[in-house]
Amino acid sequence: APRTPLTDEQISSPLQVFGQAKKQINNIFVDIQDYVADASERMIDVNKICPDVIVDNELKSILDYRSKVKGICEVLTRDHMKVAFFGRTSNGKSTVVNAMLGEKVLPSGIGHTTNCFLQVEGSQTGDAYLVTEGSNEKQNVESVTHLAHALNYEKQLNEKELVHVYWPKDKCSLLRDDVALVDSPGVDVTPHLDDWIDAHCIDADVFVLVANAESTLMVTEKNFFHKVSTKLSKPNIFILNNRWDASANEPEFLDQVRKQHMERATDFLVKELKVCTPEEAVSRIFFISAKEVLQARVKERSGQALNSGALAEGFSARYMEFEEFEHRFEECISKSAIKTKFLNHSQQGKHLVKEMYKIMETIYNRSQELTQTKMCQKKEFQEKLNFTEQQLICITNQMKMKIHQMVDDVEDKVSKALND
Ligand code: GDP
Repeated sequence: APRTPLTDEQISSPLQVFGQAKKQINNIFVDIQDYVADASERMIDVNKICPDVIVDNELKSILDYRSKVKGICEVLTRDHMKVAFFGRTSNGKSTVVNAMLGEKVLPSGIGHTTNCFLQVEGSQTGDAYLVTEGSNEKQNVESVTHLAHALNYEKQLNEKELVHVYWPKDKCSLLRDDVALVDSPGVDVTPHLDDWIDAHCIDADVFVLVANAESTLMVTEKNFFHKVSTKLSKPNIFILNNRWDASANEPEFLDQVRKQHMERATDFLVKELKVCTPEEAVSRIFFISAKEVLQARVKERSGQALNSGALAEGFSARYMEFEEFEHRFEECISKSAIKTKFLNHSQQGKHLVKEMYKIMETIYNRSQELTQTKMCQKKEFQEKLNFTEQQLICITNQMKMKIHQMVDDVEDKVSKALND
């Protein structure tokens, strides 16, 4: 099927959408954090003055929300997009990762097999270093040979183990935009596929199967993705038919081989795994040469011109197909990561805000009721006061009259007595 050419709008990296979304959701959570801090401080103050306005549970809930929001903010700053590369040993997984990074970061080729999981991500400090599982020690990495040595000899690494490789962000736009790339040992070398998936794949946004275009998809490769699909609903899978440069040696079979690979890979994604439609499969299966792309990018970076004589026939078409893969990949990973990571956070955020609103509303209503009751009590008291005052006036008047009468009486009696 024909591929639709990309528009100018699509060409600027979709990865930046993830960055923007992350920034926005981060700002929202900073606001929520300020609000919860403010609310809890005020509640503590009010509680000191009027202990019957706020119930203990309400104060406790707000303090709990305060730590929950803090937790979400911390997770948010660590959130990144994750892509995991799988395939048989020597299909070119490390070379694909390096080609996407634009330089030789991971060791590859004869003499080196990736015997553990390697996660390449941006280094905050600008230095290159690695951290092995269960350790906080930052081991400086000066070069790819140094890294290979560290991985091969310095420590006996377990195939399930994850080694973090931190690489300067300014050297690669993927790392700058918060993408973490995970290289794996060959799926053919392990009986522990389930453990791998649980340990390293559950949170991957995109999976890339690096297949060898010189052979067909193997049962072990297919098995791995069957297992992935049982654990994750509709995983995003790309299939790279690598070593496509080898096809240049046999141009007469090129179209036929490509068609056959395309059909098989499409059947695998659409019919076997049921992870996409036949139309979508066109943007998920690519024929590339990671080695050529890596060589070209390394040369470009060092300012050397590509020696076109040394390039196999069809290089630029393969290079363009690799770029198209990268673009489709960026679109897919950005969308998927925004959905899986931020949807959850935004739902949690909405829930928290709603709950806090409920508590604040209850406190507000209660304080209104208390004010009302106090006002009524004041009114009743005032009325009582007025009544008492009236009574007092009455009594005083009566007393006055009585006294007058008594005085008159006494006067009468006195004058009568005098007269007598
Ligand atoms: P991994 O074990 O899957 O990580 O494979 P590597 O990336 O280490 O590659 C194994 C060997 O295949 C290396 O010697 C690479 O240079 C070579 N290789 C990788 N990609 C290509 C390619 O596209 N074309 C050719 N001709 N060789 C490749």
